[in-house]
Amino acid sequence: MTRLVTVDPDRPDPARLEAPAAALRAGRLVAFPTETVYGLGAHARDAQAVGALFAAKGRPATNPLIVHVPDGAALGGLVASVTPLAAALADRWWPGPLTLVLDAAPSVPAVTTGGLSTVAVRAPDHPVAEALLRQAGVPVAAPSANTSGRPSPTRAEHVHADLAAAVDWIVDGGACRVGVESTVVDARGEVPLVLREGAVTREDLGVTGQAAADAQAQRHSPGARFRHYAPACRVEIAPPGEGPARAGGLAAAGHRVGLVARAAPPAGVTEVGTFGDARDLAVGLYDALRRAERAELEVLVVEGVPEEGVGRAVMDRLRRAAQA
Ligand code: AMP
Ligand code: MG
Repeated sequence: MTRLVTVDPDRPDPARLEAPAAALRAGRLVAFPTETVYGLGAHARDAQAVGALFAAKGRPATNPLIVHVPDGAALGGLVASVTPLAAALADRWWPGPLTLVLDAAPSVPAVTTGGLSTVAVRAPDHPVAEALLRQAGVPVAAPSANTSGRPSPTRAEHVHADLAAAVDWIVDGGACRVGVESTVVDARGEVPLVLREGAVTREDLGVTGQAAADAQAQRHSPGARFRHYAPACRVEIAPPGEGPARAGGLAAAGHRVGLVARAAPPAGVTEVGTFGDARDLAVGLYDALRRAERAELEVLVVEGVPEEGVGRAVMDRLRRAAQA
């Protein structure tokens, strides 16, 4: 049976996190909020617990997990060596939405790394995640707490909708403030290679001009191969400013259409969300995908954002959601 505990997102009461923390230590599955999306946590060194996590999500065994730690001090125990680049990145960006891929320590089970010799690690910037990780006292492998292939969860009710039967605890700490997953970089070399776009931007990392090197590195990053973020309804991307016209056209042709755009929708189109900039769209995107599906829309038109800053991560997720 799934137990739910609601905590203050800014000042979680340690007493309320005691049972979920103990459950993590004991090899159970616990969903919790991070600044990016909700994670489904399992003791990263407990191969059986991680196996149960893959089963609960229906996640392909070759798609490796990100191991969550409370701070940079916990990194050393998980990796073979902390490169100077990794040390500098952790120092600058942790806690935060940046995941570092490094050579794994032999003690990290193969099931956690998807059979790779590398491991992905990050320290989330969320008081609830940090407190839970400290209280658990073990590294926690935590992919997004959704059924594999579905939009990632940014609210506790999204976790409940997908995974209620499979998790032991859901820690409800409100809505996530970033809304797209962490940036994943290979930090083994001299410069960070971007394996997945995220909330820490290329501009932040000073790596806007190395698309070819990143593309090469991404060939070895399993996550990019899997279908992701798809709701039950079709998703269409409209160019910036053209959302209402596109949605109006589809509605006129007899479709049940919803719109996520800067401006309000024309008559006959359901308003699913409005946003101001790419950061706004990031926060609300996955919730919008799930609401469109609950409203039984046929098509959701989402207006795109420029491919810069966090807009790159948003457009990456949007294109995957729109893949037929
Ligand atoms: P998720 O937990 O669903 O946000 O996915 C984590 C993603 O991080 C994976 O799908 C990979 O793309 C990436 N990742 C995790 N571990 C590694 C690794 N050892 N090497 C390369 N990429 C990784
Ligand atoms: Mg995921």
